[in-house]
Amino acid sequence: MTVVRILRAMALLMVLVMTTGCSILFKGDDGETVNMEPVGLNTSLIPEQYLDIVMRAGKLCPEISPEMIAAQIYQEVAGGNLDAKEWPTNLTSPAGAKGIAQFIDSTWAAYGTDGSGDNKADIWNPFDGILSMAVYDCEIVQYVKDYGSADIQSLILAAYNSGPGAVEYYRGIPPYPETQKYVKTIKKNMELLRVAVQGGPAGDFGARVVAEARKHLGVPYRWGGESPKTKNSPGGFDCSGLVKYVFGKLGVKLPRVANAQIMSETPRRIDAKDAMPGDLVGISPDGSMKGIDHIGIVLNSEQIIEAPKPGLNVRIAPISWYAGKTKFYVRYTGPGGGDGASGAKVAPLTGAKLTNGYHAPGGYANPNGWHTGIDLVMKNGSTVGAQIRAVADGEVYSATTNGSYGNQVILKHGAKLYSQYAHMLRFIVKKGQKVKAGQIIGYVGDSGNSHGAHLHFEIRTGPNYGDDISPSEWLKQNGLSYG
Ligand SMILES: [Zn+2]
Repeated sequence: MTVVRILRAMALLMVLVMTTGCSILFKGDDGETVNMEPVGLNTSLIPEQYLDIVMRAGKLCPEISPEMIAAQIYQEVAGGNLDAKEWPTNLTSPAGAKGIAQFIDSTWAAYGTDGSGDNKADIWNPFDGILSMAVYDCEIVQYVKDYGSADIQSLILAAYNSGPGAVEYYRGIPPYPETQKYVKTIKKNMELLRVAVQGGPAGDFGARVVAEARKHLGVPYRWGGESPKTKNSPGGFDCSGLVKYVFGKLGVKLPRVANAQIMSETPRRIDAKDAMPGDLVGISPDGSMKGIDHIGIVLNSEQIIEAPKPGLNVRIAPISWYAGKTKFYVRYTGPGGGDGASGAKVAPLTGAKLTNGYHAPGGYANPNGWHTGIDLVMKNGSTVGAQIRAVADGEVYSATTNGSYGNQVILKHGAKLYSQYAHMLRFIVKKGQKVKAGQIIGYVGDSGNSHGAHLHFEIRTGPNYGDDISPSEWLKQNGLSYG
């Protein structure tokens, strides 16, 4: 450990302390330049309790990403198997690497960082481990950035596995089979951990198709299979069996086989460039519609959900894996209904939990004696300043400081769908402004008649107080929920 390295590590830790210690400023700065990234972390593949720390760690320096951190953890504790539902935190490798990020003691001594908020850096604490992995990744950049023989992320990964000295010696990824495999698996898994941020032009029905299909990720492929996982059976789907089951759950009856699902008179044919989440893509090796031998559900412009082939599970796959084969896209529509809102739906507060439910008695209640929304706080305790997101595309109906609700925003999403966000620290949208689903509209606070920072969130059929319907039920219908 040279003096320079120690100084660099200290500088990094100071940056860390500054950004995490001033979370309101940090989040505010982030929020002013709202930019919908085209792709982001596929949160459904991250154990829920680690979502916040993975997001935070992945943004520590521009060379890494949340997907990279998640893929590294999967590699360190689950051999790169994205079907592993848990991330073990108690592993020790034969070489003495410990915990979720598999640090050896000497490296931990230099880079171990508190990610859990208890002011201790504990090699066995998974939150500390995940953040420390990012600290170390970012530190490695200084050592490997000039070796142009591979991309910077591959070099960081190689150095994480074999040590920065080995990468320096070989001026690139070392020829060790273990390291080569480590880099290759993580890079591949990063693709699978990327997903388009919700908020594209998906119809309501398309979003429900995707939400239903996601429930079956991990079910094994079985030829002729069309049954979901149950208490007593692992279930099994083939490609068209999955599609038939998902649409059937939503009240739309489809033919049984892949080419018939595409060739049916019912759906609308669409161009690849117009494909939206929930559309179907048929894949044909011989270029004809009749020759379609595989089908998947469009997740975004880059990925599909599919039951691939024997030995594999229902998964998210890049559509680029079917490059060179002819693709036919179709769109089925739902059995009708609707609140006038279009587009995907997102949760108002990521990483939050419910503290007071809809129609709960007492507390802050309406004159009828019950709660007209749900109350949410952050699971990690950092509630003040947490980012509040628009739950759907729409327009700002009002953004005001309004008595008991404090700083509140009401969004209009459709003729019969409004959402309300109350007790904000501040809002960053104006009346009349158009917003996209997932866009940050303000920060959680304690303004108005509120006892302790929280987000009061309502779904309404009209703009006014008293037009409320159950936000929990609405979230559930859109594949979202708070425990
Ligand atoms: Zn409330």
